Amino acid sequence: MSETNNVNNFVAKIVEEDLANGKFDKIITRFPPEPNGYLHVGHAKSICLNFGLAKQFNGECHLRFDDTNPEKESQEYIDAIKEDVNWLGFQWTGDVRFSSDYFDTLYEYAIYMIKAGTAYVCSLKPEQAEEYKGDFNKPGKNSPYRDRSVAENLELFERMRAGEFKDGEHALRAKIDMASGNMNMRDPIMYRIRHVEHHQTGDKWCIYPIYDFTHGQSDAIEKITHSVCTLEFEDHRPLYDWYLENLPVPAKPRQYEFGRLSLNYTVTSKRKLKKLVDENVVSGWDDPRMPTISGMRRRGYTPASIRNFCEMIGVSRSDGVVDIAMLEHALRSDLNNNAPRAMAVINPLKVVITNMADDHYEDITVESLPDSLIEATGDTLKRTVPFTKEIFIDQDDFKEEYSKKFKKKFCPGKRIRLRNGYVIEATDFIKNDAGEVTQVNATQITTVLGEDPADDVKPKGVVHWVSASHGVEAELRVYGRLLNHESPDRGGEDFMTHINPESLSVISAIVEPSLANASPESVFQFEREGYYVADRYDHTATKPVFNLTIGLREDKSLSQ
Ligand code: ATP
Ligand code: MG
Repeated sequence: MSETNNVNNFVAKIVEEDLANGKFDKIITRFPPEPNGYLHVGHAKSICLNFGLAKQFNGECHLRFDDTNPEKESQEYIDAIKEDVNWLGFQWTGDVRFSSDYFDTLYEYAIYMIKAGTAYVCSLKPEQAEEYKGDFNKPGKNSPYRDRSVAENLELFERMRAGEFKDGEHALRAKIDMASGNMNMRDPIMYRIRHVEHHQTGDKWCIYPIYDFTHGQSDAIEKITHSVCTLEFEDHRPLYDWYLENLPVPAKPRQYEFGRLSLNYTVTSKRKLKKLVDENVVSGWDDPRMPTISGMRRRGYTPASIRNFCEMIGVSRSDGVVDIAMLEHALRSDLNNNAPRAMAVINPLKVVITNMADDHYEDITVESLPDSLIEATGDTLKRTVPFTKEIFIDQDDFKEEYSKKFKKKFCPGKRIRLRNGYVIEATDFIKNDAGEVTQVNATQITTVLGEDPADDVKPKGVVHWVSASHGVEAELRVYGRLLNHESPDRGGEDFMTHINPESLSVISAIVEPSLANASPESVFQFEREGYYVADRYDHTATKPVFNLTIGLREDKSLSQ
């Protein structure tokens, strides 16, 4: 991972200045997910920014669950989020924190505001409150309950807490300005009644603070120096600041906003991703087609490829749509540089080497790492590949007749070199009743491995192969785009209408035996085929399962 992560973004510049001016000795940032779904690629941008700043400036970054909507949240999501942050390569400072850790303090703050005359219990029905709120063109009206006495407010709020009222019967609101041009300042709700259990606090509370009454105060309690969030919170900043001004908080953090990451062909909203899961469009949050961090992990994305992508796109003050080809480029270049190579034949065609003994068996030792990596690091990774009289090559590498169009193909009278192996020449072939070639007979021409043979041997090309007797059958899950529209949720249409019905095909392949023993989650370049990852959950030595991570080259047809 690059240690220069995020140096050049505008938030880093602000931090740099604040440290240089002595405003802070140390910075503290936080990543504050709501545990109402799994993290997606958009969150990765926020994680890389927040944790990256802490790393770059020797500061701290907290992981704080913003858990004020218990009915939508769960322990499953909390566990998955922690795992994803770690997997991306980051570790939060201290224990995991929860906004709910501060519910007692927030309650005290609410009482403080009631006593200060800046909060009141409002008993408008939700639909009435909506009407009183006005809209962008129309100022709101004061609630008839706005002038309740401090004593009455204290009593009602205490009774709200004691569970004497039903959901929605009363709410605690800040007394700010019903005519404000900023809707968030029109006497925003601070607490509402919800008779639901909370995953952290159990049945202790039946009133819960609203996000806006929680976030800034939690930042202040944790003495966050730079509270970095996405642009949609810009309009909330006046309220964030207002609470900090009007409460006895231990610090006054500042909020900075940056542009959300959106990707074409992708939805990045937990709510929409949840719909795909709930309606069984995918197998779960970590389905390899999902833009969730766990889905990308299962697809074969490496943490470095995601971090590099986040660095490539940078951090700006405006929203924009990033081409998914950039994400794929980051992935492909990481894999091209680092993924071990191996051989798998997807459409097997048997080749019998007729001048070889029936029981011929040879272990060929081959290098798995790409040359560039060996050159850069000096590392090597050898494996053995069994070579036998009968092998499989891909059907596509053989032609019944030579033609200029298929110059590099194997065909009767022509030679090819087996990757890491010998040169062979095709002599004849056998067809089935359907007219398909089912077997090619060939003779071994060279007996020296590796180096290209002398000029007079003239192989047409190099093909990958697998021993017919020692190869292992594997399941390949080949993925295409889950959504086949460039902007699936931005045209006013339901993104569910853009689901690609052909986003998954399951095929089989014959793979070299070393691949059966691959550890789950290891990614390989199947030579001449693409990058594949041993499935995190389903891959075993007896039933190898690989997911297509990405093709070897950018497929233009996918982005059209
Ligand atoms: P979603 O709409 O998917 O639920 P969210 O913003 O509600 O996203 P949170 O759990 O509240 O999700 O987000 C935690 C942090 O991640 C917030 O600071 C948020 O700004 C940031 N974040 C969420 N989505 C993106 C995105 N697409 N790009 C960059 N940052 C994001
Ligand atoms: Mg949210």
